[in-house]
Amino acid sequence: MNPSWVPILCYHRVCPEAEFGKFRSICVTPENFRSQMRLLKTLGYTSLSIQNFIANQRLQKNIPSKSVVITFDDGYADNFTRAFPILKEFGMTANIFLVTDLIGKVNAWDGEQVPLLNPDQIRSMRDGGMIFGSHTRNHIDMTKEVPEKVKAELEGSRRQVEEITLRKDTAFCYPYGRLNEETKRQVRDAGYSCGLATDSGPLEQSQDLFELRRVQVFPGTSLFGFWKKIQPWYPRWMEFQNKIKKIRP
Ligand SMILES: [Zn+2]
Repeated sequence: MNPSWVPILCYHRVCPEAEFGKFRSICVTPENFRSQMRLLKTLGYTSLSIQNFIANQRLQKNIPSKSVVITFDDGYADNFTRAFPILKEFGMTANIFLVTDLIGKVNAWDGEQVPLLNPDQIRSMRDGGMIFGSHTRNHIDMTKEVPEKVKAELEGSRRQVEEITLRKDTAFCYPYGRLNEETKRQVRDAGYSCGLATDSGPLEQSQDLFELRRVQVFPGTSLFGFWKKIQPWYPRWMEFQNKIKKIRP
């Protein structure tokens, strides 16, 4: 039986607390990441490539009832040095969204110089079963750029990713989770198979493959908190919590 909701987990960096830097909320320690992957394995979860997830949503292709999609935004080098060994240890596949003009450089969009994956690391992860998608060429906020610039970013990064992956069914992930109806159309027109959002998107996943809601994992997420995040009721429960917060500030 196909699951009613497949959790799409959103990670950025995996690094020790001493390396968290300014943007702590995007980091998870290797110890916590390892516990989370071990829990998935123990509970019998299968990690899907985003392509298998999309085939399930579009064509009702069967997937295991306990399925999860693991995603990483930005393509930090620690995805190779810290996360990849743990993913391999537990037989998990991750989907990593690259900022293609900055491959082998450092992130330039938030004022912190954190190294990004280089081509050798990406090839080694690809050969180890990891999946790569696009996060634009320069991590732009697509809602603030002119259409020509957005088009160049989307088409250029898709080509760059496809040179690495040697496949044509590339997924896209919106930088900063910033999107609107126009950006969704631009992503579809640029030939992507889907678009991953952050905290937005319908609770019925097949309703909009260009605004797929994800569940973020934070540095302070406990193992019980992580277990809650992979339950099919979690997104609806979060919506309920948000409504309650509005009523009772
Ligand atoms: Zn990003």
